[in-house]
Amino acid sequence: MEVPGLERYSLICSGNGIAKFLIAKSIEAERVDGDEIEKEHKKLKKEFKKVILEFDENEVDISNLNFPEYSFLHLKADLLKKRLHNCNFCERKCKVDRYVKRGFCKCSVESYYSSEFLHMGEEPELIPSHTIFFNRCTFACVFCQNYDIVYEDDYLVNPREMAKIIEIRFLQGSRNVNFVGGNPDQHAHTIMEILSNVRLNVPVIWNSNMYHTEELAEVIEDVVDVWLGDFKYGNDKCAEKYSKVKNYWNVVTRNFKRAYETGEILLRHLVMPNNLECCTYKIAEWVSKNIPKVRFNMMYQYRPEFLVSMYPEKWKEIARRLNREEIKRAMEIAKEFNLNLVE
Ligand code: SF4
Repeated sequence: MEVPGLERYSLICSGNGIAKFLIAKSIEAERVDGDEIEKEHKKLKKEFKKVILEFDENEVDISNLNFPEYSFLHLKADLLKKRLHNCNFCERKCKVDRYVKRGFCKCSVESYYSSEFLHMGEEPELIPSHTIFFNRCTFACVFCQNYDIVYEDDYLVNPREMAKIIEIRFLQGSRNVNFVGGNPDQHAHTIMEILSNVRLNVPVIWNSNMYHTEELAEVIEDVVDVWLGDFKYGNDKCAEKYSKVKNYWNVVTRNFKRAYETGEILLRHLVMPNNLECCTYKIAEWVSKNIPKVRFNMMYQYRPEFLVSMYPEKWKEIARRLNREEIKRAMEIAKEFNLNLVE
């Protein structure tokens, strides 16, 4: 069934479209070193745009694809591994060499994950979703709902083994592979390597806080079929206060606009107590003007967790669940801006 706002994703799910990463994997790349990798990536990006258009217009069958030994997708993995020497994956731009040092997210060159399973609690258009929970995050939310996985390193990711697991889960009935955490951005190099070992036509979901850099977007947008993007705050003050991030509004609106042009979006907004007018309203207003067709999930399940539950006096304005009036107000806002809501 075609989902409004997720038409291409729906086609892949029904076997009538091809996941982007497979298209990237079908484009042959030259093995190059140093600065030449960036140049080769730029060159092949142009080719990728042409090829994906052609494939979508002509509904090319997946059995007609050939996969070279070294592809645009392999090149992406190598490019990101090179950039780890001066990490700028997210807008914190720590510029640390992750081969010897850790930045704000505390990730080295290796990636760790906490669990993977067929998730039935995601949006109806996604389930069953093969969700891979990576450790660590580029945010530091005081109300983190996943703090048990964000501040630990659990199991080391072996890209080949993870690719096999993705294929097994797909054969068990997953509709997609959903890279989440924490956040996936800081593991982008590992995810490119995982995908270069996957052979089945499984749509890729990037479940992100949308705080990545434009430089990272250039690389990953050619493999992301659906951006499952969080839009948390309607202003920089709340973002700084609750997640310790700067310049939130400019970065996240820029990234959503770009994702709207290059892929499909399922946007999540977690409604927070006492933040209806400063955040929920501002976000709904911006979405209706700038990216009106996106699937919008207004989420009401906020619960005071982590530092907020440890220090409720300090965070008293968000140290409770939503009340009935706040839920009603969020629904009114969604109606006022005619959002394409997830049911
Ligand atoms: S991913 Fe972001 S937080 Fe982590 S090291 Fe790189 S720039 Fe810093």
